[in-house]
Amino acid sequence: MKILVVNAGSSSLKFSVFEGLDLTLISNGVVDDIGIPGGRITVKVYRGTKFEKHVEIGNTVDHHHAFIKIVKQLKDQYIRVIQDVSEIIAVGHRVVHGGEYYSDPQRITIELIKRVKKMKTSGPLHNQKNLTGIEICKRMFPKALQVAVFDTSFHQTMPPRAFRYAIPNRFYEKEGIRVYGIHGTSHKYVAEAAAAYLEKPLTETNLITVHLGNGCSMAAIQNGICIDTSVGMSPMPGLMMGTRSGDIDPSIIFYLYRNCRLKIEEIEYMLNNESGLQGLTGMNDLKDILNLMEKGNENATLAMEMYTYRIKKYIGAYLAVIGRTDAIVFTAGVGENSWFVRSRAVEGLEHLGIILDDDKNKSHEKGICMLQSDASKVKILRVPTNEELEIARSTIEVMNRMQ
Ligand code: ADP
Repeated sequence: MKILVVNAGSSSLKFSVFEGLDLTLISNGVVDDIGIPGGRITVKVYRGTKFEKHVEIGNTVDHHHAFIKIVKQLKDQYIRVIQDVSEIIAVGHRVVHGGEYYSDPQRITIELIKRVKKMKTSGPLHNQKNLTGIEICKRMFPKALQVAVFDTSFHQTMPPRAFRYAIPNRFYEKEGIRVYGIHGTSHKYVAEAAAAYLEKPLTETNLITVHLGNGCSMAAIQNGICIDTSVGMSPMPGLMMGTRSGDIDPSIIFYLYRNCRLKIEEIEYMLNNESGLQGLTGMNDLKDILNLMEKGNENATLAMEMYTYRIKKYIGAYLAVIGRTDAIVFTAGVGENSWFVRSRAVEGLEHLGIILDDDKNKSHEKGICMLQSDASKVKILRVPTNEELEIARSTIEVMNRMQ
């Protein structure tokens, strides 16, 4: 039994193949620069504790072409992840926006596709990219069960006081304008992993989960369910991100429109693609910015101060919201790897019972680990996220539901 997990982005396509009910990862990879000259496909094949990496350079015209390349690689005589597409019995798709309809993973039907297409509050491109992946997989794996796993599902447990905006009711009732959240699959995965690691039932565990990748979001989790999150109707608000601004005063948009004569599309592009770390330093990769900061660059220093200050503010807010807190959980590229970000984000919170152990924080221990000092009342965890595994688990959940 093999399950394919697909994450279709605008110019990239990530995939993983899991085998058996215990979901052993047997292959994963990415097709980069789809539709852009000079792309490549990277495939890793896991054999026991070792893996082989295969890279093929060459243009990929569109997503359909990308899937053809993936299947060709998986069937390659040296790679042999599958011999035939019929071995893939289910495909789990990441879908960014499930609106208020979907609070759990779903079998993909014509009706679901229609609904997802119509979701007004989704970003202009987000769901479209994922739907393209779904349409192609239905054709390429005609016998496989197709499952949608929504980024927004985990956040559907938020109460109205957290998900509503204080604007006239009609905009919620008619347009669905509210907080939906992102990275739900990651927040859910790390929350479950943290509870298991702490040997507590998830339903009795209170956590603040901090997902810091290119996109960043935090979730307040009380008794295992999400009660608040830092992003909003779109992935733009909240923390500072690689290229997104995070929280800004909405009046800035009117100012830019009226006084700087920017078009609305230009403002949207600027806030999504030219802001955050990129806007302050000219770079969006946090590792590069840390290097610049070490060399004394003032913009990089300010950017890192702002980045970590925002995380601290949300930690404060969520401590107030969830009360007794078992752990603060750092995850994703930055959260798992940057001791500096973790250290600055919780610096000065000793009076709240949050005390990091410097050595543990800087250690290169693999997997899940505790980073707090013995005197800390709140645990501080580093939990590697695994959104693909969570999507594969959800796909099995849907398969089981259908039996
Ligand atoms: P995505 O949101 O695209 O999945 P990731 O979760 O892979 O992103 O996170 C990417 C970010 O993680 C980049 O800004 C990268 O610089 C940062 N990162 C990765 N490794 C490190 C590290 N060792 N130290 C600091 N930042 C890191």
